[in-house]
Amino acid sequence: MLIDNHGRPINYLRLAVTDRCNLRCFYCMPQEGIQYLPKPHLLSYEEMIRLVNILAEMGVNKVRITGGEPFLRKDIMPFLWKLSEINGINQISITTNGVLTAPLVPELKKLRVHSVNLSLDSLDRQRFFEITRRDEFRQVWQTLEALQAHDIPVKVNTVVMSGKNDEDILSMVELARKQRVSVRFIEEMPFNGAGLRPEQLQDFWSYKRIIDLIRSVYPDMYKLPDEPTSTSYNYQIPNFKGNIGVIAAFSRTFCGTCNRLRVTPTGVFKTCLYDDGVFNVRDFMRQKLSDEQIKLLIHDALQNRAKDGFEAENKRKNLVSESMTTIGG
Ligand code: SAM
Ligand code: SF4
Repeated sequence: MLIDNHGRPINYLRLAVTDRCNLRCFYCMPQEGIQYLPKPHLLSYEEMIRLVNILAEMGVNKVRITGGEPFLRKDIMPFLWKLSEINGINQISITTNGVLTAPLVPELKKLRVHSVNLSLDSLDRQRFFEITRRDEFRQVWQTLEALQAHDIPVKVNTVVMSGKNDEDILSMVELARKQRVSVRFIEEMPFNGAGLRPEQLQDFWSYKRIIDLIRSVYPDMYKLPDEPTSTSYNYQIPNFKGNIGVIAAFSRTFCGTCNRLRVTPTGVFKTCLYDDGVFNVRDFMRQKLSDEQIKLLIHDALQNRAKDGFEAENKRKNLVSESMTTIGG
């Protein structure tokens, strides 16, 4: 079992397999001028499989595949099959925008994918277009339907953005009335590639404000017990099939039990979403370091882990401003 310098067990890897995306969510990516990474800069599938094997031997048992949009990477499905065969990995989850996902859902079911996080910030097609700058709402909705039809647990991720989708909060809550989904509202973070900071917004939607609004309309809403490493505060509204979660991603209230590691598409190893990377595992692999040497590096990185996202961000030269596609959310 991997334990960090603050006594937190680490068993969860979030692996971003690409920096490319077929949407341009304004809170995540600039509309234009994006320089995608040349393929040789990305971790290859072989390197990713090797890394996950190493981490599994160290105690990691859960992997989330993210990006960019993971289903844009060529041959992602054979990669997922290989990942599912790694000894010790017993949970594979995926975060996707759902644009290309619907036809792949039957295979994801065969793969026994544990759950899918589907990003969806509005149920209104026009507002979806304004937020993502692409007219793909129908495809995303088909993915939601396909996931439900195949009984794959779904969490719908909704970033709450002042002046953009405030009016969608309650309709997203209503999605959980008839559907077995967990609708999770996420505080907007500054990972937008544009240097915009939430604290500069006059009207920031903090997790408390989101909960207060929902409670004002659904006074019977009650708290569900949260799993120890949960990043969301979870709630149930009586007679709803699904439930509601709120993630204090910018307020960073969940760092005390953080069990996550991150690896970016270029192999940057991160021990906190808000740090700027500890080392580049791709480079070490290409310099022919052995598995044992890489294990030592990982072990050392975890003995110097920031206590929370504020400390991690303060240690950087610059505050965070990079696009989430370069990290994996
Ligand atoms: N493309 C996939 C998707 O959208 O689900 C996976 C990658 S995306 C970077 C992962 C998650 O990060 C999404 O749920 C997205 O909403 C979230 N995200 C991206 N930028 C964010 C930001 N600035 N603040 C909060 N969440 C953000
Ligand atoms: Fe693409 Fe996901 Fe970022 Fe939207 S949030 S631009 S879908 S990577």
